Amino acid sequence: MYGPVIRRIALPAGEKIPVLGQGTWHMAEVGEHRKAEIGALRLGLELGMTLIDTAEMYAEGEAERLVGEAIGGRRDEVFLISKVLPSHATRRGTLDACAASLRRLKTDRLDMYLLHWRGSVPLWQTIEAFVELKERGWIRHWGVSNFDVMDLIDLWQIPSGTEVQTDQVLYNLARRSPEYNLLPWCREQDLPVMSYSPFEQGDLLSHPAVRGVAERNDITPAQVALAWVLRQPLVCAIPKSGSVARVQQNAAAAAIRLSPQDLTELDLAFPPPIKARPLETL
Ligand code: NDP
Repeated sequence: MYGPVIRRIALPAGEKIPVLGQGTWHMAEVGEHRKAEIGALRLGLELGMTLIDTAEMYAEGEAERLVGEAIGGRRDEVFLISKVLPSHATRRGTLDACAASLRRLKTDRLDMYLLHWRGSVPLWQTIEAFVELKERGWIRHWGVSNFDVMDLIDLWQIPSGTEVQTDQVLYNLARRSPEYNLLPWCREQDLPVMSYSPFEQGDLLSHPAVRGVAERNDITPAQVALAWVLRQPLVCAIPKSGSVARVQQNAAAAAIRLSPQDLTELDLAFPPPIKARPLETL
């Protein structure tokens, strides 16, 4: 099965990733959904959403196990991302957490390993562990998540800190604060930003303005929300869906361009930021 060709963006290291991937938070929480969730992830791979985002935190490791099953026999097609919890992010703890994630995912390497959010462990310890994991070949790249500009500036002061390959943050129509300074700062460093919760976990999809644009264009509200995020350069998105019909819709959003009229209507309903605000998180 073929979907639209999904545009790719380059990591600072040069490797390219698709602008649309697949999230996995809340997968593997309900036993009877498991088969459908695996089917949805597999269809997503066929449609070109080959980046899969998971975390040791999700369903306490069960989401990683589910992803391991979904990508069985297809590991080489996938750009696989997992995350270490801040409470595990000491030098030793990060190495152990990565080993456990690899076991659950039934693979010998991650394509990207992220610090899930900044906690109390000094950043340099986590970065030292990431560098060691790269040397061991357990991870190919590393990045961060929920980092605001000041956190990235701190990272830039740490040896190897500039080797970061992405910042995964909450960015969607209802959470536009990154547009004020985070997105411009990252663009200046050629650092891709990964938008999580592009549908605000589904809440955006019943908004009248989103529905209005969807109806006029004969597309779905989810496609409006994704096309809106992807209008930005160097931004990719990781929608989560456990349903094959919705995965199909989400993949098709890669080909959709919103018109100036669409964007104006969405700006009226979701005004762009006019001053710096702290990065929001879920
Ligand atoms: P999303 O904004 O992706 O929304 C997911 C919800 O939208 C689900 O209820 C899903 O239901 C529904 N949905 C998906 N596609 C459609 C569609 N086409 N039409 C209607 N409804 C749809 O929320 P998430 O919070 O899951 O964010 C995406 C991913 O980002 C996560 O899964 C996770 O991997 C990552 N993330 C990272 C965080 C971090 O701190 N780094 C924090 C939060 C998320 P259904 O499954 O039934 O289709």
